[in-house]
Amino acid sequence: MGKRVLVTGGAGFLGSHLCDRLIAEGNDVICLDNLFTGNKNNIRHLIGHPYFEFIRHDVIEPIHLEVDQIYNLACPASPVHYQYNPIKTTKTSVLGAINMLGLAKRVHARILQASTSEVYGDPEVHPQPESYRGCVNTIGIRSCYDEGKRVAETLFFDYHRQNHVDIKVMRIFNTYGPNMHPNDGRVVSNFIVQALQGKDITVYGDGSQTRSFCYVDDLIEGMVRLMNSRDGFTGPVNIGNPGEFTILQLAEMVIKLTGSSSKIIFEPLPSDDPLQRKPVIDLAKKELGWEPTIPLEEGLKKTIEYFKLIV
Ligand code: NAD
Ligand code: UDP
Repeated sequence: MGKRVLVTGGAGFLGSHLCDRLIAEGNDVICLDNLFTGNKNNIRHLIGHPYFEFIRHDVIEPIHLEVDQIYNLACPASPVHYQYNPIKTTKTSVLGAINMLGLAKRVHARILQASTSEVYGDPEVHPQPESYRGCVNTIGIRSCYDEGKRVAETLFFDYHRQNHVDIKVMRIFNTYGPNMHPNDGRVVSNFIVQALQGKDITVYGDGSQTRSFCYVDDLIEGMVRLMNSRDGFTGPVNIGNPGEFTILQLAEMVIKLTGSSSKIIFEPLPSDDPLQRKPVIDLAKKELGWEPTIPLEEGLKKTIEYFKLIV
């Protein structure tokens, strides 16, 4: 039988894919979102489905619902969006975690936190295993997001130790795919939109910084497996694609795959921009039997097809 599942941030990029997956599996899904970066278009096809409900609500306010599982995804994720109102970003991470953990405690729901590779900051350990404690600036322009997510992890483990809340903590590495916001400033969406519009491709810095990009379908598979993993396994667990690319390589790949005549230009590197990032995924392999299956080039082709329809 299906479960009653709450997805906060369900109208966003990852949340909308998760709602699709949960509905397809026969669950009763409540999508909660304040529509700050999310969009009703991402879930339009689900509106009217008998097992789907949308609630416009801000996670910084408490809410009472009867559910079996909570996926806590509500939080702007791209630097442009989380830096727009940094105080609100910290509130969303911290008060949102407190409110959702309080709900999980009251109704005995299992709760999964969408944490991030940003908890590792600008890492001195490469690649990053879960045991690495990170190198994060407390006072920089990325801190509202990075430190907010770190406190959220702390709250998850304190509710677990103090109140026996059934928690799962997932550290998500850069993910891309259809339903990304075309103006969210993230590198994959920026480069594809620029290439399709014949505009210059804006590489920040010299483009030698690296990221590991995971296609959204792989990511959602890992997320659902973690939620349904064995009792007592809390994580934190890295979910991401260990394929590591420089930003310049990504720019060249997008130009090739779109057949664009766009030129690469170089712009200043934003402060605290991590130089390298790549997950160690041994724990996900062992505990969840999970590893990514979609290589970057294949995922980019699918994402380009999506953006061709909307830009
Ligand atoms: P997104 O911006 O597309 O989605 C976030 C959703 O949360 C949006 O629908 C937004 O409207 C909603 N939201 C924001 N603040 C809210 C609030 N106060 N109350 C209710 N809803 C609110 O981003 P995404 O990429 O889908 O990210 C989803 C989650 O995964 C985030 O928590 C993010 O930190 C985490 N994550 C994503 C990535 C990635 O590469 N996409 C990487 C690491 C972590
Ligand atoms: N980036 C870039 N050009 C852009 C957008 C981003 O060179 O138009 C770089 C950015 O400086 C960073 C990397 O791409 O080094 C990934 O940026 P994104 O905002 O997607 O994610 P994050 O920095 O949070 O990993």
